[in-house]
Amino acid sequence: MTPATPSAASAAPPPASPGQPAFSPAAAPKVASPAEPLLFIVSAPSGSGKSTLVREILRLIPDLEFSISYTTRRPRGSEVNGREYFFISREEFEKRIRSDDFLEYAEVFGYWYGTAWSFLEDARRRGRDLLLDIDVQGAAKVLVRCPGAISIFIAPPNRETLEWRLRHRAQDPEAVMERRLRDASREIAAYNKYQYLVINDRLEDSVERLAAIIATEREARKGAGTDESGRQRRELARSCRQQVSAPLLAPVLRSFGVEMEVGKPGA
Ligand code: ADP
Ligand code: 5GP
Repeated sequence: MTPATPSAASAAPPPASPGQPAFSPAAAPKVASPAEPLLFIVSAPSGSGKSTLVREILRLIPDLEFSISYTTRRPRGSEVNGREYFFISREEFEKRIRSDDFLEYAEVFGYWYGTAWSFLEDARRRGRDLLLDIDVQGAAKVLVRCPGAISIFIAPPNRETLEWRLRHRAQDPEAVMERRLRDASREIAAYNKYQYLVINDRLEDSVERLAAIIATEREARKGAGTDESGRQRRELARSCRQQVSAPLLAPVLRSFGVEMEVGKPGA
């Protein structure tokens, strides 16, 4: 059985305008406080190292909360209910769809995953920014409803490394791993829908880049960002802008059998 058709997720998108807050009031009527947190969306093909990176970033960066998704898949490895995910049944997931609990939800690798509105509301109440680790379908939906969100794509250095990381993690049955690898080619082709691109080769470099992107976007919101101390960080963030860094992705795409579309700028 598939979940009921979403009512909220198919709502008409609010119009985009310069200086727009991350959450459009029209798209988020339940939110009460006027403070506007930044919303960071991080997506990547499975096994790229996104969860590892996100974990490091959450330890490093203050006032940044993680949106814990709901999923119908079973816990993996050392995952704990309420920490990595809320693990719920299909029936419970469908009930939540009907209650309009989700900002977005999608089927990924045969299971349902969804982002709860309540995380956005809580982040706003607490004056924190929010980080979403969601797939490319979910990211597209959130960007329609929250046009001010900042989107970041994490790519592996190449297909071989992705496969090695998935196998080394050793938490998925062979069939699941194969499916994740198969879907990686489709997912990686979505890189040009994102504002930023980070190729996760050396973990420390990727953490530094992700931290620079978040700090730079925070400065931009405050209208700050002219001090010399932040110059290098801003430059690093700029080098991760998709239009700037996309050429570095060409060999990565080729390793997945995907050709870069020349002359077709992304987001
Ligand atoms: P994802 O969340 O994208 O599915 P994970 O964060 O679970 O991926 O990482 C997959 C595997 O790769 C894990 O075993 C992790 O420790 C390892 N890993 C993550 N980033 C790196 C990196 N930069 N270099 C080497 N190994 C990494
Ligand atoms: P995993 O099973 O490896 O934890 O996650 C599989 C995929 O689902 C990843 O791409 C992850 O980003 C994505 N995902 C996790 N939570 C959500 C969510 O709430 N919504 C959507 N659309 N995707 C999610």
